[in-house]
Amino acid sequence: MSLDRPDRFRRRYLEAETGTLVKTGHCPLEVGLVALSPYETAMSSLGGQTVYRLFNELEGARCERLVRFDRPRSGAIWVSLESGRAAAEFPVLAFSISYEQEMLELVRFLQENRITPRSADRGEGDPLLLAGGPVVSSNPEPVAPFLDVCGIGDAEILVPSLAANWLAAYGAGWTRRLLLETLAGQEGFYVPGLYRLDGVSGSYPVLPRPAGQAVPVRVGRATADVGRSPAFSVIVSRLAHFRDMHLVEVARGCRWNCRFCLVCRINRPYRPAETGRVIELIEAAPAAAGAIGLVGANLCDHPELARIAAAVAASGRRLGTSSLRVGSVDRELLTVLKRCRVESLTLAPETASAELLARIGKSYRQEELFETVRLAAEAGFRGLKLYYMIGLPGETAKHRRELVEQVRLLAGTTGNRLRLKISVNPFIPKPQTAWQDESMLRPGEIKRLLRELRKGIRQDAPGVQLQHDPPAEAVSQAALSLGDRSFAQPLEMAAAGAGHLLDCLGRSGIDLEPVLYSRKKPAAEHPWSVLESGFSR
Ligand code: SF4
Repeated sequence: MSLDRPDRFRRRYLEAETGTLVKTGHCPLEVGLVALSPYETAMSSLGGQTVYRLFNELEGARCERLVRFDRPRSGAIWVSLESGRAAAEFPVLAFSISYEQEMLELVRFLQENRITPRSADRGEGDPLLLAGGPVVSSNPEPVAPFLDVCGIGDAEILVPSLAANWLAAYGAGWTRRLLLETLAGQEGFYVPGLYRLDGVSGSYPVLPRPAGQAVPVRVGRATADVGRSPAFSVIVSRLAHFRDMHLVEVARGCRWNCRFCLVCRINRPYRPAETGRVIELIEAAPAAAGAIGLVGANLCDHPELARIAAAVAASGRRLGTSSLRVGSVDRELLTVLKRCRVESLTLAPETASAELLARIGKSYRQEELFETVRLAAEAGFRGLKLYYMIGLPGETAKHRRELVEQVRLLAGTTGNRLRLKISVNPFIPKPQTAWQDESMLRPGEIKRLLRELRKGIRQDAPGVQLQHDPPAEAVSQAALSLGDRSFAQPLEMAAAGAGHLLDCLGRSGIDLEPVLYSRKKPAAEHPWSVLESGFSR
């Protein structure tokens, strides 16, 4: 099908999915939920699907998905899949930001749809820009100048609260300013425009401080009761990366506390979903769903994962799982996973060094990794992917040699029964984690170490495939992750096609050296200190 017209483009996606929510009747609150990644990725995000469902469940609100459409001659615009309307027609534009690179896409979206980019320049009649998701909950500062409201925490609390306030403002004719000030006083809403920028703290030049008395110094996190109400997807699409998959949340957060990990920090506390409710959601999956995707940072920590997986097996559908925790996988679980037609497993050993494992705070024993791999090979799994990091604080050449040796021994354990892939990426210091002030490897060092690893693995474990992301992407991700509001202008330059983000940062006089490549003194404050993290080392 030629996709040169918006109606054909929309039809291609709508015909591939079930569960599209088309709400009729008068709804004053019209939300355009902007897909910052391609449709295939966006429809595989449980976070985005949850926002879409929650808005559409509310009286007076309608939410439609805006997807990028590349016009053959006149550039890209975003159109609503549900109605075909353009982005500028929605009074509220919502973004669920899962990856740092989507910050750049957000600015590109504003430019391509001719929406006044900076919140300070928007006024009555302009759309209200609202963002949430993991990146926003950890550090929204690089895109703060573009956003009116940042939702910090769980959508189950933030979406109804935002809608109630917006509808009250609409009914009573509040000004935009009054709406923003009202939201700023409520838990989980950070309104960047109500903070002035202040001084320098250690490595960070720009820190937000409240500009008025009613504005909180620290923004609290909205935390939902996920036990009874786990998230689930409404749309099943054969074009999604998770093809034909119905997604059901098994737990939010993680009960472990690895020192590099953002997931456990921004989703505290660990909240497993009630088994009965998860099974109900599995049984209620749409007929078009050929697979059930269980979502959670550490599925094995759910006390009844085997029972949940058995419910998937009983439904006759395939099971999609994320990474399993080394040390929590036993023969019974592997048997159930096989019954659900799972062919490959993913584990995240992170490092082969017992010393670094202890430093990370990841508590499994090396023998448990070998035992899991042996059981997986015996159970007839065909593939195994292992995630490792390089450049961890305190890492030396000896630790990397241990990695090659571990991969060699694992390959020996599996023989030819299991296709082994390893994914190796550099450690990136993330905001709000215990290692937020650590340094990362420079791109040249990343390349060199990857070359050494590749050589070692080719020699010692020739059948094992090594994967990694481009080093420059890791550095961009780190810069955005730890950035502040001075990033706004380089983001605008990069979005307008003036070069790679890293070049635009350099041309804007932003020195990444103190933030990325030097171990920082634990800063009293960070750009993201405006968000209450409950963080303690
Ligand atoms: S790395 Fe995994 S086990 Fe560790 S805290 Fe994060 S999600 Fe939990």
